[in-house]
Amino acid sequence: MVKRVSTRRARARKVDTCKEATSLIIDYLNDELKPETTLSFERHLGMCSDCVAFLNTYKKTIQITQSFLRKKT
Ligand SMILES: [Zn+2]
Repeated sequence: MVKRVSTRRARARKVDTCKEATSLIIDYLNDELKPETTLSFERHLGMCSDCVAFLNTYKKTIQITQSFLRKKT
């Protein structure tokens, strides 16, 4: 009998592809990644300008949203 235990959440993830990197951006910005995953994520950014651009776009979007909310209050 094989027990299937889901360890996906607890285990640090290796970021090899852009798909993985982009799926981690929100957690990365929220500082919710494991240190190892953050390292792996940043390593991917170091060699992938596409994901850097995507991250910057994402950050900008958040900034715009936040300043918009601030203006309203
Ligand atoms: Zn990438």
